[in-house]
Amino acid sequence: MKVYNTMTREKEDLKVVNNKLKLFVCGPTVYDYSHIGHARTYISFDVIVRYLKHKGISVFYLQNITDIDDKIINRAKENGEDPLELSHRFEKEYLDDMALLNVNNVNFYARATEHMDEIIGQIQNLIEKGYAYDTETGVYFDVSKFEDFGKLSNRNLDDLQNTRIEVDTTKKDPKDFALWKKQDEEPYWDSPWGKGRPGWHIEDTAITESYFGPQYNIHGGGLDLIFPHHDAEIAQMEAASGKEPLVEYWMHTGFLNVRGEKMSKSLGNFITIKELLKEYSPEVYRFFVLSTHYRSPIDFSDDILNQAENSLKRIQNTGKNVLEKLNEETLPEEDESDIASELSSFKKEFFEAMDNDFNTPIALSSLFDFTHKINKSLNDNEISEKTLISIVETFKNIEDILGFSIIVSDDSGSDLSNELLDIITDVRQDLRAKKDWDLADKIRDNLADLDISLEDK
Ligand code: AMP
Repeated sequence: MKVYNTMTREKEDLKVVNNKLKLFVCGPTVYDYSHIGHARTYISFDVIVRYLKHKGISVFYLQNITDIDDKIINRAKENGEDPLELSHRFEKEYLDDMALLNVNNVNFYARATEHMDEIIGQIQNLIEKGYAYDTETGVYFDVSKFEDFGKLSNRNLDDLQNTRIEVDTTKKDPKDFALWKKQDEEPYWDSPWGKGRPGWHIEDTAITESYFGPQYNIHGGGLDLIFPHHDAEIAQMEAASGKEPLVEYWMHTGFLNVRGEKMSKSLGNFITIKELLKEYSPEVYRFFVLSTHYRSPIDFSDDILNQAENSLKRIQNTGKNVLEKLNEETLPEEDESDIASELSSFKKEFFEAMDNDFNTPIALSSLFDFTHKINKSLNDNEISEKTLISIVETFKNIEDILGFSIIVSDDSGSDLSNELLDIITDVRQDLRAKKDWDLADKIRDNLADLDISLEDK
């Protein structure tokens, strides 16, 4: 299969040794609720991993959590809250959001603050090798020592000057970036250079080195991270280990935009995942994200989300009709249409698209076309039981890859969920009998959030 590599700007054959891949994707800086732009990136990588696993590859998917950073400290000051309490509160919100979106393939989340020894060790190594130096304000990476700086972004050192690097007269060159920031104010960690905390770039290479070693297979993140973050990671790790390349493949997701501008917290044009999920189901958002290739920009609008909702409904209706048909007794012994060969062509198209740099929009449009063909053959009762079962199996496989359901049965819930609902409604009846309207209303409202409506009769 082919994967686009940002380093070479080409689609390359994905080489897999011993059927194993190590993947690292930059995780969030947890100082606020995550927005749907973040979700776009993490849903994309979730599907990439699901597909690799479907191909039988064992993927170890690692993500860091930036739980200490300027933004966290500033927000904590505004709130009068402890910075680590704040970041761990929003980390939990992030993990809850990911679970709701069915993003569930990360094997390990590594907090920066739990890897201080590794971070300090890597900085020490860089100082010993002459790539970093200590000043009154911090320890800095000396960019002039790393000849290839900028090889991922193809940008040169002068561009670094225009990025958000702190002005600091103790640095040899304004472009040098911080590995360790000295500070006496909490939260700080002890280090050979005094109290302080790590710079942003070093946490990732310290974390990946400790789990994967100095070299691994795939590194991912959003497009905005290529420069200077990923270029800085390359410089740090290749300088520290003397080995290159840091990774074989660099994969980057396009932005989720609003009226042509990147959705971001700093621009204030964001919608949180929680807000979105009040209006749309997680499955609709996944479908919406996957309708565009992971490297292309998506322009967010309610219209496009509504279209996604309708398309998904039509696909799920077909899934439901296939299941219902299977329960009928009057199925033909043999297919009376060419639906079996349509199924083979659809599978070929779908998997070829996914093999071609995870081309989900092509894969989805072939799924959509195939459901039209099924609908017609179902109406005319032309599909045998054997073919219906093959269709269900294929749909189940695709559900696992894309992470939304196609086969939705009409059953209103399992026995257990019905029994639980009975218990909840009984308790609510008791509350109403005791005139505890507040609590009774709260239960009704919470159930409404789950699309369960209660009517008092
Ligand atoms: P941050 O918490 O800002 O470091 O972002 C976490 C991840 O989400 C990074 O990989 C970003 O590139 C990605 N990201 C942030 N905003 C967007 C957006 N509008 N569209 C797509 N990805 C985004």
